Amino acid sequence: MLVDSHCHIHNKGYFELAPDEILQHAHKNGVDKCIVIGTDPKDSEVACKFALQHKEVWWTYGYHPNDYDGNKAKLESDLKKAKNNVLKSEKLVAIGEIGLDYHFDGYNRDWQAYLLENMLQIAQDMQLPVSFHIRDAFDDFWPIFDNFHLPTSVLHSYSDSEENLEKGIAKGFFFGVNGLSTFAQIPHPPLERIILETDAPFLTPKPFRGTINKPGYVKNIADWAAEYYQVAFDQVAAITTANVEKLFKI
Ligand SMILES: [Zn+2]
Repeated sequence: MLVDSHCHIHNKGYFELAPDEILQHAHKNGVDKCIVIGTDPKDSEVACKFALQHKEVWWTYGYHPNDYDGNKAKLESDLKKAKNNVLKSEKLVAIGEIGLDYHFDGYNRDWQAYLLENMLQIAQDMQLPVSFHIRDAFDDFWPIFDNFHLPTSVLHSYSDSEENLEKGIAKGFFFGVNGLSTFAQIPHPPLERIILETDAPFLTPKPFRGTINKPGYVKNIADWAAEYYQVAFDQVAAITTANVEKLFKI
């Protein structure tokens, strides 16, 4: 059995296929559990609803660093509302995706740090693991991360340097491996520290580049991993599924 530990299939705007077809395609490919990832307060509510409607789906509460407009009063009221409502829902497995993203210009770095700290406080208070989205920003990320006490967490879609990979390993992180590994030159974490994800509808793996990504393609990422790590497909499935089940208690 395989798990898609990070996808956005709850967001209807992205998909041509109906959710039930997407999940059927996943099952056909041996992907029997999915975690849908919230990217802002509204989107996280949609993720929650979607998870409650599908037995094989769990959800996260997140706020992507590029989606925050710096309005502190609004953030405070959104998070307060969430604490009294959606954060009490079943099948919530993590906070995220949250983090820092310096890849594109035009996003205020102080706002990103402020948002990240507010979200990490929730993760710490609820003792939930975190799905981190960190892009070109690890120098600023590590000191913020070190200020909190969190359960073992994940660096989703890891594609940074070997040096930061080593730091992440030393700090106990797991690493989300997706379609990027099948077509880009990036560092590869040790097999025992990876979990598989699609980030669907983005980052479609080989050989489906150019089409919309979906959770069933975790199988193709597992194929890649079996070849890269020189182990049997079933061993990749067993290790990565055990990792994700332990991390997110699903
Ligand atoms: Zn994502």
